[in-house]
Amino acid sequence: MSSSTSDRRLSELWSCVTLDEASSLIDSTSSPFSLQNFVGGQYIAPHDSLTNSSQHITSFEPKTGRPIYTLPCTQPHAVEAAIKAAKAAFPSWSKTARAERSAILWKVSELLQQNREVFAIWESIDQGKTLDRARVEVDRAISNFSYFSTFILHEQTAARMVDGVALTYEHRSPAGVFALISPWNMPLFLLTWKIAPCLAFGCTAVAKPSEVTSMTAFLLGDIFQKAGVPPGVINIIFGDGATTGAALVASPLINGVSFTGGTQTGIAIRRLTAHQIGKHLSLELGGKNPTLVFADSMVPSVRERTIRVAAMAAFENQGEICLCGSRIYVEKSVYNDFVRDFTAYVREKYVLKQTVGAVASLQHYDKIRRYLELAAEQKATFHLGGAPPTLNEDEAQGYWIEPTILTDVAKNSAIQIDEIFGPVVTITPFDNEQEAIQLANDSEYGLAAILLTTDGARMRRVGEQLEAGLVWVNCWLVRELGTPFGGMKNSGTGREGGEHSRDVFTVVRTLHLPAY
Ligand code: NAD
Repeated sequence: MSSSTSDRRLSELWSCVTLDEASSLIDSTSSPFSLQNFVGGQYIAPHDSLTNSSQHITSFEPKTGRPIYTLPCTQPHAVEAAIKAAKAAFPSWSKTARAERSAILWKVSELLQQNREVFAIWESIDQGKTLDRARVEVDRAISNFSYFSTFILHEQTAARMVDGVALTYEHRSPAGVFALISPWNMPLFLLTWKIAPCLAFGCTAVAKPSEVTSMTAFLLGDIFQKAGVPPGVINIIFGDGATTGAALVASPLINGVSFTGGTQTGIAIRRLTAHQIGKHLSLELGGKNPTLVFADSMVPSVRERTIRVAAMAAFENQGEICLCGSRIYVEKSVYNDFVRDFTAYVREKYVLKQTVGAVASLQHYDKIRRYLELAAEQKATFHLGGAPPTLNEDEAQGYWIEPTILTDVAKNSAIQIDEIFGPVVTITPFDNEQEAIQLANDSEYGLAAILLTTDGARMRRVGEQLEAGLVWVNCWLVRELGTPFGGMKNSGTGREGGEHSRDVFTVVRTLHLPAY
């Protein structure tokens, strides 16, 4: 594709200001859009990035099942070229004055803000989420840049005295070139959650979004160009995990990896980099999070809030958020009331008002469908939803799964153990506080937990025993970008956010200065 053709097609994407316009654009094009890597400050046509037509992946619109675009499955030699571009940009960018880096990243946040609706539209089309949900995530992407662009202006360092003999102080410098890899559930938000701090702390990067949802990352290249990010500082390449992702993380030129995705992929990345001891690894992985509902949270004055928070935690973004509470445990005395009220609320709010989208891909639809078939085989009770039908790739009706509420699921069933990552929740009774804690912690994962209670002492007593990196009490998904974000057990290692992101993207040396 000539550069003017690709420019024209890019400007067509930018010109869509409603979902209908974007949808018509997809319908009116004879062949799907082809995304291009963004390397060295410019889009590289597929033939320049040395991929041939057989090395392309087609991406489908979850709500309709129709093809929307193709992306290159970037091959190892082209991955290496992108890493070299980041490496070449590092010496200069890492020494750029903080105020200058800050101004450029602030500009990125402004440009995102100006194009908020276009990003939300393409995110909704590409991922399957509702437009409202997409808007929330674009706002969070904007905050990622505004937060870290100002964070670096107010940094402090620690100094200590050694018995009055010497002064020691911590000096930090950018850690180098990073691989930034993200999943498909919140594509723009999670990719920028990595890019913003990485660039703010003076590192350069090669970013790879999920092959399932690459559209907003493609648009992001244009934003970086317009904001004046120097060529090579951020490179965005497309492709799958086995070819592109693996080549990226394993390269000896990569100094660190910030990865968000599944636990099995996290293990693969650990293996790929095991011999590279100095490589920084930040792994944000899967979850199977518990929601604990105590009887005191079902009294009339707070019942509505309890039901609303538990439902939001279960079904927001079709349950495709790593922090979703997919295992609900309810104190026995209010169990029947909760199941009844929760089911009625979810039917009204999510099913009748259609506030859930389609799940992200046919592959993911099939995975969820298999769990729901298993639930039927195991004689679970379906209070809402059911096993959806099998779909063929050429059927263009989309990947829709109704919010599903299950009870009577055995503790050792795969439905209770595995991360389904879809609109499926189980509800199980418990007798007392100790049992609630034990059930909540009975998982290989430890990402998040939701605690619904009005007992102030219990908030701390139970909250501090939960094996989860994030515990929300009577709320869910409240975030402040400085708080440490990350999981325990198989949900990951390392923390990101504020100064924790600084730890990921910088190296620290301590200088000792005697008094003489
Ligand atoms: P995934 O692990 O399959 O893929 C994530 C990314 O890794 C993709 O870009 C993929 O191409 C890439 N990848 C795959 N194999 C690779 C390899 N060998 N080397 C390098 N990169 C590779 O995950 P997914 O299915 O895209 O996303 C769903 C998972 O992400 C769920 O488990 C969910 O809980 C998790 N997640 C975690 C968080 C968190 O903050 N902890 C946030 C969102 C999603």
